[in-house]
Amino acid sequence: MVKPKNEKPQTQPVFPQYKGVEEISPKVYSITTFGNVGFVVTDEGVVVVDTAVHQFGELIRNDIRKVTDAPIHSVIYTHGHYDHAFGVWALLKDAEERGDPPPRIIAHENVVRRFNRYRELQGQQEFINRIQFSVPEGVSAVPKEYHYPDVTYHDRFSFRLGDLTFELRFGMGETDDATWVWIPEKKVIFSGDFLLWSFPNIGNPFKVQRYETEWAEALEQMASLHPDILVPGHGPVILGEKIQKVCLDTARALRYLHEEVVKRLNQGAWIEQILEEVQLPEDLANKSYLAPVYGCPPFVIHAIHRRYAGWYDGNPSHLFPSKTVDIAKEVVNLAGGTEALLKRAKALKKAEEVQLALHLVDFVLDNPETADLKDAHELKAELLQAKAEQTTSFIAHNIFMNGARRESQVARELK
Ligand SMILES: [Zn+2]
Repeated sequence: MVKPKNEKPQTQPVFPQYKGVEEISPKVYSITTFGNVGFVVTDEGVVVVDTAVHQFGELIRNDIRKVTDAPIHSVIYTHGHYDHAFGVWALLKDAEERGDPPPRIIAHENVVRRFNRYRELQGQQEFINRIQFSVPEGVSAVPKEYHYPDVTYHDRFSFRLGDLTFELRFGMGETDDATWVWIPEKKVIFSGDFLLWSFPNIGNPFKVQRYETEWAEALEQMASLHPDILVPGHGPVILGEKIQKVCLDTARALRYLHEEVVKRLNQGAWIEQILEEVQLPEDLANKSYLAPVYGCPPFVIHAIHRRYAGWYDGNPSHLFPSKTVDIAKEVVNLAGGTEALLKRAKALKKAEEVQLALHLVDFVLDNPETADLKDAHELKAELLQAKAEQTTSFIAHNIFMNGARRESQVARELK
C-alpha cells in the first residue's frame, strides 16, 4: 500500500523560517518569519508593521526588546490575514506588563469587515486552512483571538513620529484590505503581501476573489517612489535597483494575464480554452521572484475569469448536470465492470498520464456499487501523490497530499 510522503518537492517554497532581527537601515529593522515583521524606532516610540502568526507573537516581542526599550507607539496591519495580524497579542501584553499605554493598531477599514467574516465563518476557515497549510489534526488551523484596529482609514493615512513620516497607502491585491507603508526619509517600503517571492497568490482555490489589476497598480506606485529598501510580506528584503525589477515584472505578469483572459472573453472563449491557451511569456516565467511556489498562473487565470464571468463553462450539458454517481454507474456498466477502467488507469499512470488516470479511477470510486474497492483507493492515492510531486505550488501540493492521505486511510480501513 502506498504511504504518502510528507516531504515537499525541492522547488517548494517554503516559507522562510524564523531568522531573527536584522537592522536594514539605521533604526529600521526587519524580522524574517512567517510573515515578515518590520519595526522602526523613533524618539517618540516604536512603530511595528505586521505581527506574523499568532504563535510567533512572543518571539517578535523579544526581538523588539533586544533592540529597544522604547514603548510601542503604533502597530500597522498590512492586511488582516492570519500570518500578519495575529501575533499582536504579545505586543499588547508587553505594553501592559511594562505599564505603557497600549499601542494603537492602525489598518485599512476593510480589515474590520474581514475579521467579522472570519468570525462568522470560523468553521470553514478552520476546514480550508487545515488543507491549504497542511495543519496536523489536533492543532488549531486558525486563531480565535481578534484584535481589531483602533484607527482605520479609507484611502491614505499618514502620521509623524519622532522625525519620521509614515505614509500608509491602501491597495487591493491578495486582499481587499491591504496597506503598504512608505517612509520617505528612509526610502523604505513595507509592502505586505504585494510582494512575497512567489507568483502572486490570486485565485487560491479556497478563497474569495482577489484583484490582479489593482495589485499591479500598487506595485507600479511603489516602484515610482524609487525606494532603496523594500521589506516584502514574506522572504528576503529587496534592495536598490532590484526593487524596480521585482515590482515592475510582477505588475507586468499580472497585467499580461489580465489582458489575455479579457481578450479571450471578448472573443467568446470559455474557461477551458482560456486555461489551455494563456501562458506567461518565457522571460517572466523564468524569474525567481515569480516562481509558482505558492500560487501559480493557472490559479490566477481562474480568478480573473471568475471576476469577469459566471460559472457556466459553455457546455449546456453541464448547466443542470446529472449526479456524479449516476454518470459513474453508466460508465462502469458500459466498461463491463471496474476491471477495464482500472487496467486502463494503471496503463495511463505508467505512461505518465496521471491526470487522465485519475478521471478513470473516479468513475470507479464515484459509482456507489464499486466505491469500496481497496485497489481503486490505493491507485488514487498513488496518483495523487504523483500529482503532488509534480507540482511546485505549495497550495496545490497540499491539496493533492490531503487527498492522497484520505484515499490511503480509506484503503487501510477496507479489509
Ligand atoms: Zn502573508
